[in-house]
Amino acid sequence: MSWDYWRLLTVVSLTGFVGLLFDQMILFMFIASLLYALWLQRAWNQLWSWLQNPKKNQPPTAEGMIDDICRQIESVRLQNKSRKKKLADYLKQFQAATAALPDAVVVLGSQGQVAWANTAAKELLGISWPRDSHVRVHNLIRDPVFQKLLTAPITKKKAKIVISPVNSDSYLEMKIVSYMGNGRLLIARDMSQTVKLQKMRRDFVANVSHELRTPLTVLYGYLELFDQDSPADMWRSALPVMRQQTQRMNLMLSDLLVLSQLETGEKKLQHEPVDISVLLATIAEDAKQIKEYKQHQIKLELDSDDWLLADPGELRSAISNLVFNAVKYTSEQSIIVLRWTVANNGAYIEVRDNGMGIAEHHLERLTERFYRVDSGRSQESGGTGLGLAIVKHILKRHDAKLNISSEIGVGSQFHCFFPVAKVIKKSKALK
Ligand code: ADP
Repeated sequence: MSWDYWRLLTVVSLTGFVGLLFDQMILFMFIASLLYALWLQRAWNQLWSWLQNPKKNQPPTAEGMIDDICRQIESVRLQNKSRKKKLADYLKQFQAATAALPDAVVVLGSQGQVAWANTAAKELLGISWPRDSHVRVHNLIRDPVFQKLLTAPITKKKAKIVISPVNSDSYLEMKIVSYMGNGRLLIARDMSQTVKLQKMRRDFVANVSHELRTPLTVLYGYLELFDQDSPADMWRSALPVMRQQTQRMNLMLSDLLVLSQLETGEKKLQHEPVDISVLLATIAEDAKQIKEYKQHQIKLELDSDDWLLADPGELRSAISNLVFNAVKYTSEQSIIVLRWTVANNGAYIEVRDNGMGIAEHHLERLTERFYRVDSGRSQESGGTGLGLAIVKHILKRHDAKLNISSEIGVGSQFHCFFPVAKVIKKSKALK
């Protein structure tokens, strides 16, 4: 600052001195002050245009106060620039974090309008930002449960399960929390898997209770009826029924146990070369021993002598289930064919019968637990309704698939498809 005073003082005194030589000191000093003021004005103008457009214009180069101001402004500008860069980096990090978030996050304004939404909001709620910016959220999510949640007082807002507006098979857990004053934050999480599991658990408990109720009611009825003095012939007629019902419960519990072991992967899968020709022949012999076997004809069609890499026990259990079903659900003298074929795209074991067949609308649900086409017939033969569910799980563990086709009055076919990688040449298997 003092530099400016010295400069002004020097210029005015020098010109005053020169003016003194011409006897015009005041005039010279006045002109010098005027020129100095003009020069200063020019520097201020330069400063103004530089401030207006610092990228295009140069800062003034005048030493002194103006220069100090320029330097001060430049340092503030640099500070701001680095602060801006830092903020931009934070914003980028925040955006990357919210984009990676699997939950949908939507910032709502005071009127419930969309102020911002992350990437998951598009996938889960169909809300895309900036496209839906300022649109009221109740126009975007019309589910009545959500509308109620939106209007409920913030203190009472509990998470609610809402069907996704994008996919009616998905369930979302939605929550609204207060955010920055009178704003609100809508958070939605995909809960489809949990809801599905909860439903499966409920269905499972209901099914098991239902299945156990019949045999237990029979046993309970007899126990109510009988006492120590009941005549022996009463006991004699009741005992086989009681035994049968107990066996039925036992069978069901052991099937449930097998299923649970398969599902949890508790039991380790063995991988051994299995001679399918021998396996099918053994199962055919076993089938002749079951009580429903009445002059059925079981034929083997072996198109290949290749072996299969599998867990021998599990594979035998799966194929036996299919063959025993074929015996149980067909009439006397029906023909049952067990076929082993190896093709370029895989290998399959087929169990085919010419029984009464299954109506098409049952086929899709046949492998569900406890699903039966003819409940009476299944229970008569001691069926638990779990056989095909076990088969499906065993095949899944072997990367194989079960395909069922059937026609009423013609018969049913159960194809177990195995990937080529599981097929092993006999010569190699015997080494
Ligand atoms: P279940 O213990 O009742 O036999 P499964 O899961 O093995 O249970 O079979 C489910 C249902 O599929 C059976 O109840 C039966 O109605 C039907 N089913 C299975 N195999 C055949 C078949 N070969 N022919 C006709 N119906 C069959």
